[in-house]
Amino acid sequence: MLLNLEQATSLIVERAGQLVNQLVEQRGHEKPPFLSEEYARLLDIKRIEKTDLGEVGAVLLRFHGGYVIKVNQKHNLARQNFSCAHEIGHTLLSELKLEACLEDVEFRTFNPQAQRIARAGARERLCDAAATELLMPEMVFKKYLSAFGVSINSIERLANIFRVSLQAAAIRIAEASAEPCIALLWLSRPGNKSKALRLAWHVGPGNKSTGKANYAPVHTLVRHTSTLYRAYQGETLVKSSKLFRFGAATKRCPMESRGFGREERRYVISLAFPDR
Ligand SMILES: [Zn+2]
Repeated sequence: MLLNLEQATSLIVERAGQLVNQLVEQRGHEKPPFLSEEYARLLDIKRIEKTDLGEVGAVLLRFHGGYVIKVNQKHNLARQNFSCAHEIGHTLLSELKLEACLEDVEFRTFNPQAQRIARAGARERLCDAAATELLMPEMVFKKYLSAFGVSINSIERLANIFRVSLQAAAIRIAEASAEPCIALLWLSRPGNKSKALRLAWHVGPGNKSTGKANYAPVHTLVRHTSTLYRAYQGETLVKSSKLFRFGAATKRCPMESRGFGREERRYVISLAFPDR
């Protein structure tokens, strides 16, 4: 059976959803957080070991008796939780034999190396999609999101409750929000000599499996004179608007932004709302 990326994504997310249901049934409640350790017990994963892995988040080892996940103990707990869930995604990928099913048409290119990179990228995105559903199950996340409101001010609360990073929570908001919402991440260059922010990624609303939003910001550089830059400098919510391109048209959308992290690791997350 051949599958495109979108079909493969819904299959692996569906399998992750089954695990969520199994866990909820076993513990008798659906209160977050959903931890990788809890899922490991439901699967063929013997243990999760905290160890020193340098720059790597986690690795998956296959043994005759089952899997062992090694996770980087130097990373914070939210990151460890996602890295482990991503490795659980790899076990689901092989359980479902999805990799062999991915249609070559998705990776058609004249350059075999580019093809290998595209395949690897698709595989990693599938594992991220599974991890996202395991840690922030759509149905549960939606309940909390509608209680807190789709706002940049809900990101910290959601990240703490679901024990994920702020960026993972922001991406999930864009995916799960009933109202169309685009999440964006802005970074400065090391040292920030140019006093500007650059767009690192933007997500949703759009094609979940490719991760590509239908809306793309027209300008991807934020200068220090811009309103948005105030989010980088201060601690409060900054309201501004931004021009987005979708297809051949452009539209100005209202946006909420906030700065997070300190000094070299300072970054800004924005949520834009095409329908407001
Ligand atoms: Zn991976």
